[in-house]
Amino acid sequence: MATTSAAMDGVAAAAFQSVIQRVQQAAERSGRRGPQQVRVVAVSKTKPVSLIRQVYDVGHRCFGENYVQELIDKAPQLPEDIEWHFIGNLQSNKAKALLAGVPNLAMVESVDDEKIANQLNRVVASIGRKPLKVLVQVNTSGEESKFGVEPSGCVELAKHVSLGCPNLEFCGLMTIGMLDYSSTPENFKALSNCRTEVCKALGIPEEQCELSMGMSADFEQAIEMGSTNVRIGSTIFGAREYPKKQSN
Ligand SMILES: *Cc1c(COP(=O)(O)O)cnc(C)c1O
Repeated sequence: MATTSAAMDGVAAAAFQSVIQRVQQAAERSGRRGPQQVRVVAVSKTKPVSLIRQVYDVGHRCFGENYVQELIDKAPQLPEDIEWHFIGNLQSNKAKALLAGVPNLAMVESVDDEKIANQLNRVVASIGRKPLKVLVQVNTSGEESKFGVEPSGCVELAKHVSLGCPNLEFCGLMTIGMLDYSSTPENFKALSNCRTEVCKALGIPEEQCELSMGMSADFEQAIEMGSTNVRIGSTIFGAREYPKKQSN
């Protein structure tokens, strides 16, 4: 109905502005200055292009999606200067479609084994795009999960990406937290401990290793615990109406 959609105008943009304020305040509380210190990935999975456009129109450029086919469908309908982050589980047989279909893919946050790292590395070379930024996804919850390398394996995988995949740029670590998409201070602490080990092993300063942690329910706490990249969906775009377990 026209009245409904008129009433919806600007809702996502307003919610986004308020998220940005909260991010800034949390960054200041943690001793960091300016919004530049924490990147906000606006997670738009299951949401229409029109809502993404609202947030784009107030100046935001970084968006995140979980499903390959959904991102391939949406990206061409939106401006090319969007920096897309892929944050879902990625099967190696979909890597080529993802990179070929989304030239402005800025980062894959969910590299969780050598196989997918190798495949992304190969595809970058074969399509001739610039090196792809990646994060290594860590399972910090101790729960049985297919997704995320165990903390004890993060150094090895980070080394593999950094030293064995010349077409990938290792940028840091990501965690979801618990299987139900909540996280605890222990998850954040565990990721931060992983960073210490990885940076020691690679001989890089911690400032060069991002921490992607924090979602709608807990991004302020995550920032206070050192997050440099928060992934915020429902607080910006509203509750998702269909289940997150959708086919890739
Ligand atoms: C959906 C999703 C988010 C956003 O979750 P919200 O709670 O809606 O903010 C963040 N990270 C990942 C990996 C997701 O799949």
